[in-house]
Order: sequence, then structure tokens, then C-alpha cells
Amino acid sequence: MDSNSSEEHQYVGIAASPGIAHGSVSLIREKAIFVPKYKVDEEQMKGEVSRFENALVETRKQIQDIQEAIRESLGEDEARIFDAHLLVLEDNALIDESIREMKATHENIEASVWAVGNRFIEALAKIDDEYLRERASDIRDVLRRLLSNLTGQSLEGVEGPDEKHVLVAHDIAPSDSASVNKEHLLGLVTDAGSKTSHTVIVARSMNIPAVVGLGDITQKVRPEDVVLVDGYEGRVIVNPSADTLLKYGKLKDERTSIEERMLVLSKEASLTQDGYQVQLMANIESAAEAKKAVELGADGVGLFRTEFLFMNVHSLPTEEEHFQAYRDSVEAMDGAPVVIRTLDLGGDKMPSSSEYDMVEESNPFLGYRAIRYCLGHTDVFLTQLRGLLRASAYGDVRIMYPMISGAFELEQANDLLEQAKAELREEGIPFNEGITSGAMIEIPSAAIACDTLVEGSSFFSIGTNDLIQYMMAVDRLNDRVAHLYEPTHPAVLRTLDMIVKAAKSGDLGVSVCGEMAGDPVLVPLLVGLGIDTLSVTVGALPNVKYVVQNMRIEEARELAKEALSEPDGSKTYERLLEFYNSRMAEFY
Ligand code: PEP
Ligand code: MG
Repeated sequence: MDSNSSEEHQYVGIAASPGIAHGSVSLIREKAIFVPKYKVDEEQMKGEVSRFENALVETRKQIQDIQEAIRESLGEDEARIFDAHLLVLEDNALIDESIREMKATHENIEASVWAVGNRFIEALAKIDDEYLRERASDIRDVLRRLLSNLTGQSLEGVEGPDEKHVLVAHDIAPSDSASVNKEHLLGLVTDAGSKTSHTVIVARSMNIPAVVGLGDITQKVRPEDVVLVDGYEGRVIVNPSADTLLKYGKLKDERTSIEERMLVLSKEASLTQDGYQVQLMANIESAAEAKKAVELGADGVGLFRTEFLFMNVHSLPTEEEHFQAYRDSVEAMDGAPVVIRTLDLGGDKMPSSSEYDMVEESNPFLGYRAIRYCLGHTDVFLTQLRGLLRASAYGDVRIMYPMISGAFELEQANDLLEQAKAELREEGIPFNEGITSGAMIEIPSAAIACDTLVEGSSFFSIGTNDLIQYMMAVDRLNDRVAHLYEPTHPAVLRTLDMIVKAAKSGDLGVSVCGEMAGDPVLVPLLVGLGIDTLSVTVGALPNVKYVVQNMRIEEARELAKEALSEPDGSKTYERLLEFYNSRMAEFY
């Protein structure tokens, strides 16, 4: 862009989280790295030193690889810049001093090397010599890489300033969302991403307007720019003119008044005009969200994503930590059902602790994730199951397994659940003996053969985020193929129809907990297909409930019937949008 001007420029991306935000830019090119800090005893120190040595070797190899790539693409002179980085890794002062620091403070190696490295940086940065100042920045770069290898954190990510801002970043990994300064975050704009990436789900649950999939917006805005984020239409307006601000100011007022009116209605029951009940549940990641869900009139929690509780911790969660996290949410829901999903690690949800024994894979969404990981790490799984069962003594807890691909996995998971129950019984620890468990249907094999899963499940919950990605071969994080991600595609709708029929014939309840359920335009379709429970991000509850309250079940069934015989998914969407707008007409 003409980055020397402050003229208005508009860019269109994917409308990922509704709302309008206006503020100064915080342009993020690198994130603050999370430095775990904990005590280690004499015995553990040997292990710490060997972790340190491995990380030094790994870091050295990465830098040599970068150097080689630069040598090939740019030449020898440019590649030599990395010699300085390699020297840092051989600097005995840094290495020995870090080990000495650990022995003196009894703090883990990450905390020790970080403290020593930063002392070096501070000392060098003060010296009035350009060469030495450069060395400080070399140490800083190497230190970050070293820490990322020690902790498994990616180096791409985010941090934000201590004032209100719109975050503009290439991408935000789920594990980074904890480091985002939520209090000051007005809006979110990224090059990468799609509607179902987890960062976006988090933005939606925090009610933060977001536009993603803009390609190269980080190259187009400057730190001194002001941006307007239109999360309804997926527009980002850099340096908006007075006219634009006026237009959006009016739009914002209009939307705020609609949202306020919907909020009032959200306290009422989730019934259609003709009295048909749709259970409206919330998707949460913490007890704080559970409380918000209650305020917004949720009938319960339909999906508690548990992996986020433990994403940024340095060690595996204990049974007690699991238990407390779940009990807090269960108590907040005050007797309403809380469907807790067992760990769905892997894919784009990589934990930072190396203790999880997870590695980067070339096809992470098809890899060793979720229930596959848990069945291979029964110790981790049983610890969680015991924590979950213990929380079931405090309310209506239900258990849900992610990424079930067939009956055998479901059987294994249920066997382990029985084992956890037997252990608790033996130890005299209370839990709900009548606790139920269900399978997520989010892999095509599970969808097609879902009749084989009826026996081992008390309910099905359809994870449309993954199901659609696998059915349509569209990576849910890849903005270049995001336009092919089509929830109204006839293949998707026929599959949903099939799952509902199998569930009903087995007398099971069936819900949708993917983002599809939170799109108010799609709600009549899902209800019309016979989905009796919708679980949506907390922020979406009022609008979804409003749609339920303003339709009749026969209308929804008719829309679903039409959609099932419509070969063109975009026509189905248009038809649904038309219906939705007719219900929203009273607001305009
Ligand atoms: C889904 O896949 O639809 C789902 C709800 O799970 P997640 O988005 O956490 O993968
Ligand atoms: Mg999923």
C-alpha cells in the first residue's frame, strides 16, 4: 500500500466475530515468550542440564538450517550474519552462568537462562557502541529460540500494549491467546485464519470484533495508523475518513440497541413460537465463561473445551487441578447439564509443556490428537477422567469424547471410564454413578457409521468445525481455501440428516456444538433437521435464542426439507438469509 499516506483504505477478509471496533493499531510481528518458572531440587538439576544441552543442539541446528537457506537464496555475506547467533550458542559465559544461576536459585533452566541472558542484554545495550548493541539483539534472538525449544512454544505470536488497541497480527496460535492483553483489546485483525480457528472462537466468546484471512494486512498497516474493524461484514478500514466514521457510528448504535433488546429476550425460555423446545447450551473454556453463560440464559454447557485450561502450563495437570476447574464450572451452572469434553490436544491445540509427549506433525489435523492421544497415554486420560468423575458429585456432568473414528475407540474410552469409576469406588470417593458419556461426531467415518456408535453413547454431539474440514478437504486454518468451507453444502446437510436419524432411532439426543450452531442464519436449518440441542459461543446466545423464539417448527422443517434437495449450497444459504432477515425485520 501507499504506506506514506494516511488516506482511507479498505480491505475485505472473513467476518469472524461480529461487532465494530475503532482504535489505534498494535502491529505484532513477534510475541512475548512465556517463560515457565518453578523450583527444581538437586536431583532434578541433572535433567535440567540435559534438557538445556538438547535445546542448545536443537537451536544450533535450526540456526544452521536458516543460515543455509539464506546462503542459497541471498548469498554468503547475508548468511554470515547468523555466525554471530551461532557464537552466542557457544558462549561459555552464557551457558555456564545459566547453570550456575540454576544451582544458586533452584529455579528451572528456562527461568535461569532467561535471567542470565537478559542481564547480558541489559549490560550490552547500555554501551555506546553499535557493534555491541547488535550483539545484544543477537543474544535476544537466540534466547527466544532457545526458550521456544525448551518449552515447545512457537515463535510466531502476539503481545499487546497497555492501552486500548486493535491487534493486527499474522496469526494467533491458541496457546498465545492467554498472552493477549484482553482488557485492552478492541478488535482483532489477522493475515491468516478462518471462521473456525480457535483464536476466532476465543474472540467471539469475548465479544471482540474480528476480521481474519486478510492475506497480508500486516504489510499494509503501519503502527501509527488507526483502523476500523467491521466484524459484521469482514471489512478493515485503515485511517477511516470522517464520513466513514459517521456511517459506522450510526451502524454501531443501531447494532448496540438490537443487542440490548435481544439481551432482554435471552432471559426467556428457548421455545419456538409454537412451543417447540430447543436446548440452547454454551461452549465454554473456563468457569468465568460458565457464569456469563448463566447470565445470558443458557440451558447448560454443551461443550467445555478442557485443553485450554492446560495449554500454557509447564507440567501436566494433576487430578486435583482437573477436578477444581470442572467443579467451579459445574457449580456456576447450578444443576444445569455441563458436557465436558476430554482432552482434544493436538491439531492446532498444541500444549506448551514438553511433558505431554506431543510432537509437531506434518498433517496435524490427521495426526495423533484428541482421543488417539488419550488412548495412547492412559495415565493422562485416567487422571482427567478421575477429575471429571469427582466433579460429577457437584452437578449434572456429562462426558464427551472428541475425534472418535469408530466403535473400537469408543469402547476403549468407555472401558477406561469404567476403570476410573472402579478406582474411585474402591477409594470411597464420591461421583455420580449415573453419569453419561457420548461421542463427538466430527470424523466422516464416525458420521457414516454412526449407527455403530449408538450402543456406546448416551448422546451424539456433532463437531461441524472438524466434520466439514474433513468432509470437504478444507483445512480450517487455511485462509486460501476458506471460501470452500461451506456448511450448507448438500453433502454436509445429508450427513447431518443421517446422523440425526441414526441418533433418533437409537433414542439418543443429538446436538451440534461446532460454530455452525452459533450462526443465527443457520439455526432454523439445524432445528428443522431435527437437532434438538445447539451449543454456541457465549456471545452468540442472545441472537440464536432470538431466532428460535421467532420461528415456528414447521417453518424450520420446511426450510430443512428444501435445503436437502437443493444441489447448490450457496442458494440454500441465500434462502436461509432471507428467512433470517425477515425475522430481524422488526429491528430495522
Ligand atoms: C468441532 O470440531 O466442531 C468442535 C466443536 O471442536 P473443536 O472446534 O474444538 O475442534
Ligand atoms: Mg473438533
